[in-house]
Amino acid sequence: MGVPGNAQDRAPAELAATELFAVDAYRRDFEATVAEVDRDGGRVRLTRTAFYPGGGGQPCDLGRLQTGAGALAVTAVRRERGPIWHTVDTTGGDLPDVGEEVQGVVDWTRRHQLMRTHTALHVLCGVIWADYGIPVTGGNMEPLKGRLDFPFPHMSADLGTAVEKRINDEIARAHEIVVDFVPRSLADADPALIRTAAHLIPAEIDPLRVIDIVGLDRQADGGTHVLSTAEVGAVRVAGTESKGKDNKRIRLEVLDGVVA
Ligand SMILES: [Zn+2]
Repeated sequence: MGVPGNAQDRAPAELAATELFAVDAYRRDFEATVAEVDRDGGRVRLTRTAFYPGGGGQPCDLGRLQTGAGALAVTAVRRERGPIWHTVDTTGGDLPDVGEEVQGVVDWTRRHQLMRTHTALHVLCGVIWADYGIPVTGGNMEPLKGRLDFPFPHMSADLGTAVEKRINDEIARAHEIVVDFVPRSLADADPALIRTAAHLIPAEIDPLRVIDIVGLDRQADGGTHVLSTAEVGAVRVAGTESKGKDNKRIRLEVLDGVVA
């Protein structure tokens, strides 16, 4: 099922043509035409983009737009009722006009760190589900740092140490990561997707984009991920805290290399 890392084959054609990050997380630059300009807002909409607009706890990409007038820094990217808008810093030149060809370049260092971090958090989800049968309830991330909340009734003092070892063991297994697009009729009957409450996603979202860390974790997700858990590097549990009776928070740091 699905294609490692890049899902062009099964992705809806329009999505694959316009939201490049959804089908190829490794796309770091692209050509596009300016489709709409919001001069007051200092932002542009493009015919297609590789900039992730943020969502699911993963922050938006940054980078630059190369226009005829110069290079404009992309300072924010946001989806607004469907379309994706790129906010630019116009000190490098004027906003481009509708119809102008531009080149987008994603800040790859930051994006790849976010891909590693996002995948590390899914590995954490998979480990907590496998070992404790507890689903994730919330989370957030920045480059190389993330946190997830789980409704643990209680938390032992050595949970952090145990979880850190389990995550690094799973990372070392180099699980393949597949981006899949699953018809709702199948997704709504998939136990792994039911566990992550995918049925709460509006029914008109069909197919569902699914990130499958093969053999470990499978969930509906819009974010960008690495191709193999080995690419995450290593993970350190930076903290575990109680955020209330049935809410325990686990903080991760993503490191280069392997934890000894
Ligand atoms: Zn995710």
